[in-house]
Amino acid sequence: MPLSRRDFFRTGAGTALGSLLGLGLSLTPATARAQQLRIRNATATPSVCPYCSVGCALIVHTIDGEIVNIEGDPRSPHNEGCLCPKGAATYQLHKNPNRATKVLHRKPGAREWVEVDLEWAMDRVAERVKTTRDETFVERLADGTLVNHTLGIFALGGATLDNEWNHLQQKLMRGLGVVAIENQARI
Ligand code: SF4
Repeated sequence: MPLSRRDFFRTGAGTALGSLLGLGLSLTPATARAQQLRIRNATATPSVCPYCSVGCALIVHTIDGEIVNIEGDPRSPHNEGCLCPKGAATYQLHKNPNRATKVLHRKPGAREWVEVDLEWAMDRVAERVKTTRDETFVERLADGTLVNHTLGIFALGGATLDNEWNHLQQKLMRGLGVVAIENQARI
């Protein structure tokens, strides 16, 4: 049976680790050595964590164009090499077998997702947005107040969208009359 993190700390293994640390013994040299091996001969490129507006500085290590490691940049005046758990997992944003790399579509009422062509999906989204807006657009409220809005569309962004994308998304959505616009590019 797989051992959960919580179980680990309840077991002797957790106790043994705790004892080691309690005796003042540190695992840092081994960890540092592993880190050193991982980034040996790697190119270090400065970057910024994509997850929130704190914008912690990162160093991305690559070998032959492949990302091998991402860590906090100690030269940054505001994160000084530290990253929160989300930022520390940025490597998995790129290297992750669970990451969806194909467009998947599930037809209304269907149980299965099927792979579809990106062009088809983009056309389908545009078609649905146009239809929904046409059907739900309100120019004036009953009392004559000019609103020019639709409550039939909701725009949901993501933490990894950058400023430029968010700027365009705001312009597009406001232009369509969408008022429910949310983005998690903040903490
Ligand atoms: S998600 Fe965490 S690591 Fe990334 S910018 Fe925000 S605080 Fe920094």
